Amino acid sequence: MARMENKKAIVIGAGVSGLSAAWELKKKGFEVTVLERRDAPGGVIRTFESGGFRAESGTNSVMVTSPRLLEFFEEIGLGAEVERSKPAAKKRFFVRGGKPRPVPSGPFSLLFTRLFSLFGKLRLLMEPFVGRSDPESEPSVEEFAERRLGKDVSDYAINPFMAGVYGGDPKRLSIKYAFAPFWNLEQKYGSIILGAIKSMKEKKASGDVFRPVMVSFKGGMGTLIKKLAGDLGDGLKTSARVISVDSTADGRWEVSWGTDGEDCCDAYDALAIAVPAPDIASLPLGGALSAALAPLSKIEYAPVATYSMGFRRADIAHRLDGFGALVPAREDFSILGSLFVSSIFEGRAPEGFATLTNYVGGMRRPELAPLPQDEMRKIVLGDLKRLLGVSGEPVFEKMFFWKHAIPQYNLGYGGIMEAADAAEAAFSSLALIGSYRGGVGVGSCVENALRAADALAAKNR
Ligand SMILES: Cc1cc2nc3c(=O)[nH]c(=O)nc-3n(C[C@H](O)[C@H](O)[C@H](O)COP(=O)(O)OP(=O)(O)OC[C@H]3O[C@@H](n4cnc5c(N)ncnc54)[C@H](O)[C@@H]3O)c2cc1C
Repeated sequence: MARMENKKAIVIGAGVSGLSAAWELKKKGFEVTVLERRDAPGGVIRTFESGGFRAESGTNSVMVTSPRLLEFFEEIGLGAEVERSKPAAKKRFFVRGGKPRPVPSGPFSLLFTRLFSLFGKLRLLMEPFVGRSDPESEPSVEEFAERRLGKDVSDYAINPFMAGVYGGDPKRLSIKYAFAPFWNLEQKYGSIILGAIKSMKEKKASGDVFRPVMVSFKGGMGTLIKKLAGDLGDGLKTSARVISVDSTADGRWEVSWGTDGEDCCDAYDALAIAVPAPDIASLPLGGALSAALAPLSKIEYAPVATYSMGFRRADIAHRLDGFGALVPAREDFSILGSLFVSSIFEGRAPEGFATLTNYVGGMRRPELAPLPQDEMRKIVLGDLKRLLGVSGEPVFEKMFFWKHAIPQYNLGYGGIMEAADAAEAAFSSLALIGSYRGGVGVGSCVENALRAADALAAKNR
């Protein structure tokens, strides 16, 4: 492997995207500096513990869909710390008629589920006969789902799923970007249902037998951040201010920055910007770069609050025998959903207790996300009472508010991504990384960051 002796890289933003890119750049031999505005790394990932309860400020787990991610966890020395979700967490609930209903896992459970109406089930069976979308069109997730799967399945399955992934509005999310696997199956096979069956068979025949797994780490998601940040040593600068970023005539970067105890201005061979899209506009970037990145400010972000609560197990009527329950917009609840945290991973609550993390806001109810804790508490407890039969008061609680929680891959998103590609082409030692590009899940963020770091290294060879 070629090493980047005497090459310097700078990464702005120490969320999981920036930290993963920094790790890979360091592995390739760069001397790496990471600037983080806050006093701690991790972005929206933070694990907190109290009295035997453990919960996450935002990100609960990682869906691993390729071996690359597990290899990365091994490579950074966390192989033994990876914790797979409990088998029971495979079961998921969507809400209908005020009650959590198990999501059907096969044709038999689909026949008997109370999640969909009889008409809804019959309409779903018509999906293979619905014509393909015009490849040049860009339907919203809702338009696409209603046309292919019918309104009932769109309302009670796709709508809550989009709330769970994006906190998003399916009327505005683009099927091409927010739910690409569905779009691709339709375009390739003419049907999502038949396409899913055929592509599974094709994968098996080609020897691709990787089964996605849901993981966290012993000690929670914070373990990943601690490890990546720890390996940077004093290359990680927290409470950092970026003072100026200018491209030089020889294709490098002159970056001036400061912390409470240190001021620096240096030349760097590679620059990775790993801050949420709305924060790019407030970075002091040189004229040409600032103009090239201006379209990214059009990306909207959903605000989300998370409210974790620990209860005596006896104070919750529901069996909590699954991952959690997501709420469709049509149902009369304020929360977007509730995760049964202590049913997913070990060690999230003391014996005889349970931890729930509840999500509020999103594009569905953005006005609720910034509410003060006492008002939020009332809303969440009221919903949990009706949804899960919670009767007691929480014995543990912690709330977080994320103003720029999740980027929305809305209609028109493709044009914004073209601008990001064009900026990277114009400034060859630049990488733009983060959840607004290539997937919002932690798995996508890490894999995209590693790819971007490899590309920067290749350009510096
Ligand atoms: C509530 C919530 C729940 C989620 N749940 C899951 C889940 O269960 N599973 C999953 O896979 N994904 C989940 N996600 C999504 C996933 O966690 C995020 O997409 C991912 O962590 C984003 O990482 P990032 O590094 O791209 O951005 P961020 O985490 O936002 O990090 C960006 C960093 O840049 C810093 N920054 C900003 N401006 C500046 C500046 N001017 N100078 C220096 N630093 C700056 C910020 O302080 C921050 O630390 C969730 C997200 C949220 C909000």
